[in-house]
Amino acid sequence: MTSIAWIGLGNMGSRMSAHLVTAGHEVRGFDVVDALRRSAAEHGIVPVASVAEAVEGAEVVILSLPKGEHCRDVLAGPHGVFEHAAPGTLILDTSTVDLDTSRWSHGEAGSRGFRFVDSPVSGGIQGAEAGTLTFMLGGEENDVARAREVVMPMAGNVLAVGGPTHGIAAKLVNNMMLGVSLLAVSEGSQLAAQLGLDPKAFFDVARVSSGDSWALRTWYPVPGVVPGAAVNSNFDASFSAMLCHKDVSLAVEGAEAAGVKVPAATLIRDQLQRLLDDGLGGKDCTLVVREASPDGTVAGWDGR
Ligand code: NAD
Repeated sequence: MTSIAWIGLGNMGSRMSAHLVTAGHEVRGFDVVDALRRSAAEHGIVPVASVAEAVEGAEVVILSLPKGEHCRDVLAGPHGVFEHAAPGTLILDTSTVDLDTSRWSHGEAGSRGFRFVDSPVSGGIQGAEAGTLTFMLGGEENDVARAREVVMPMAGNVLAVGGPTHGIAAKLVNNMMLGVSLLAVSEGSQLAAQLGLDPKAFFDVARVSSGDSWALRTWYPVPGVVPGAAVNSNFDASFSAMLCHKDVSLAVEGAEAAGVKVPAATLIRDQLQRLLDDGLGGKDCTLVVREASPDGTVAGWDGR
């Protein structure tokens, strides 16, 4: 049994931490939202009233927070992890953060005698619920080996990607590529329809041809082609425009800093931004298909 502190009991954290309890660990959980602490208690998490209380005596601290600024604050802010955890504690950040924050976290944790592994995840809320997430780990070899044992009950795949920040770098590049694939599927689906192709007949061609992609197979944005695609339920989110925008934006920032030119990623980021501007950030990211539609209407969407 390991004593684990879990900070951030939202959509992902509440589900992920429950698997650690099932695996027999003692998990103390903190979230700034009272109601989330109470509901976590129903899954065997010991709810506590502060970060300080969560990390006191913990062997492992795990973060699942919205953005880099929240992670920096929880780590280094007053009454944060660095102030209250014992040196040597292993800290895992499962949040999707910017590369600068991940570099900063490794540096600050290391200089204070903590062990830090960037541990972002892929697989969404469904993967968190099922305990089948893909973890991408970045850090020193020994720390990554220990992190692998800790995350196993929440994981379908655990990949030791490389040194510090390599986990988050892999996550951001992967999601940038997903965004660019989405752009291709969005434009292709609308052009096929305008050229008079039966959507299912075209999908069957692309699926076994060079136009194939995960986004095509999972998200094809025309009704009645891929069961489970958001287009079949009025674009209720499986991966929201807001989250997709966040991930692609962080990747574009990373690309700009590295001098890599990413015009396609910039284009999909801007299309997602327009969904956010129109109050549609909670809808599925595949609603960007409206940008390719000749008149802005989208089959399967009620326009709200
Ligand atoms: P969420 O907003 O549901 O959960 C984050 C939680 O952190 C919230 O409950 C919030 O109250 C809490 N929080 C914020 N500041 C805090 C603080 N100072 N102390 C304690 N708690 C604090 O978000 P989520 O969907 O659970 O995602 C968490 C992270 O995982 C994000 O970085 C997200 O990008 C990433 N992620 C999400 C998904 C997904 O499908 N939702 C998939 C992969 C990765």
